[in-house]
Amino acid sequence: MAATLDPSVDPLYRDILRRNPGQEEFHQAVHEVLDTLGPVLARRPEFAEAGLVERIAEPERQLIFRVPWTDDVGRVHVARGFRVEFNSALGPYKGGLRFHPSVDLGIVKFLGFEQIFKNALTGMAIGGGKGGSDFDPKGRSDAEVMRFCQSFMTELYRHLGEHTDVPAGDIGVGGREIGYLFGQYRRITNRHEAGVLTGKGTGWGGSQARTEATGYGCVLFTKEMLRMRDRDLEGLRVAVSGSGNVALYAAEKAQQLGATVVTVSDSGGCVVDDKGIDTALLKQVKEVERGRVADYAERRGGEVRYVPGGRVWEVPCDVALPCATQNELTAEDARTLVANGVLAVAEGANMPTTPEGAAVLREAGVAFAPGKAANAGGVATSALEMQQNASRDAWSFARTEERLTAVMRSIHDACHETAERYGRPGDYVAGANIAGFERVAEAMLAQGVI
Ligand code: NDP
Repeated sequence: MAATLDPSVDPLYRDILRRNPGQEEFHQAVHEVLDTLGPVLARRPEFAEAGLVERIAEPERQLIFRVPWTDDVGRVHVARGFRVEFNSALGPYKGGLRFHPSVDLGIVKFLGFEQIFKNALTGMAIGGGKGGSDFDPKGRSDAEVMRFCQSFMTELYRHLGEHTDVPAGDIGVGGREIGYLFGQYRRITNRHEAGVLTGKGTGWGGSQARTEATGYGCVLFTKEMLRMRDRDLEGLRVAVSGSGNVALYAAEKAQQLGATVVTVSDSGGCVVDDKGIDTALLKQVKEVERGRVADYAERRGGEVRYVPGGRVWEVPCDVALPCATQNELTAEDARTLVANGVLAVAEGANMPTTPEGAAVLREAGVAFAPGKAANAGGVATSALEMQQNASRDAWSFARTEERLTAVMRSIHDACHETAERYGRPGDYVAGANIAGFERVAEAMLAQGVI
């Protein structure tokens, strides 16, 4: 990574590189935050004196464990489990679990680090953490997924608790997996501690609108960015990457607000649907039948095209919502988007834009929302789920969505105002990093050197 950091943080960054070799995604996430902190440390020397940057970049606790499980023909497999409990200054560790073959310590640490600032931006009492496994649920039977989840929780349960550490879903972990994980936690501990996991089914402690929250929130954030430019989503063409939880509900909300979502994708390719994605059919194919976007294209027929290996960013659009995975939008993609006249890019996924891609977009004056702000609606609604669990209450969809809308507006405004306060008007990356950092730093400062 290029050494463009402010001299107040560059030696710290070098030290982080030296002490965490091979964790490229973690380095990238740290670099992105430190890149914007120079002016904050200049204004608040007590933050540097208290060693806050060094402490915030070092997880409070890192767990790595063996997860043995047996497949349907009796073969034994050994996966690796992770939980990084990064920062609890603001509340219990909170962040999802990712099940994907690419998961390693560097990925979990990048996600956990981002989560600290994201959770701080929500204004709620939640700290940052993340976890997962290199287990690949794709192509596995329900019984195999259940046995894996039970084995994973048999180790992890001792580190969790509604006041300690509260996981949720992420890539490869949806309602099915949360159900199996919760069941095993309940069995081992003999406690129906609903607030220990979020993303539960609405019939047994889950919150209305949690499934929709990350995607919906991302679009609500986009709406706020467009409003600052006297625009709205009505009539705009939107490109969405991915077709999982975040992508599906980003597409749904964009269409509810009058936009046309012209493309979605998965790791096999993308579909181009100029009349607008049929989100009800896409949900049926993905969530009920566990199919692929190619199946969607086949079922939809007509002029819908499936492009094997195709990239959504080549499809002309006004708004781009990367909702699949990290580093999926490169500098070349960004140049294509700019050439096609893109107005706004909001990250539904975590760190989907490469640093070079983000630079191209920001230099071109595109409204660019980093994931830690734009996708915070999911974790915010998880905190609302914890709130409902604590009071043994269940709110309506409308009430929960209203709270989500208010949270997304407040995150937008916090990023916007903080960027202005630091002389970076319109820079949502600086605004999000600084606003999130300030909240955690104040809490850490008050709580002493721990
Ligand atoms: P899902 O597992 O539901 O969906 C992931 C989607 O991204 C799938 O379409 C998948 O395609 C695609 N994808 C995943 N990895 C890759 C890859 N390496 N290359 C190409 N495509 C890929 O996950 P979510 O929707 O929950 O998560 C998506 C992103 O949003 C992640 O970055 C996650 O961290 C972030 N996020 C999720 C939140 C949530 O509430 N779920 C909250 C905040 C952020 P395929 O099926 O082919 O693998």
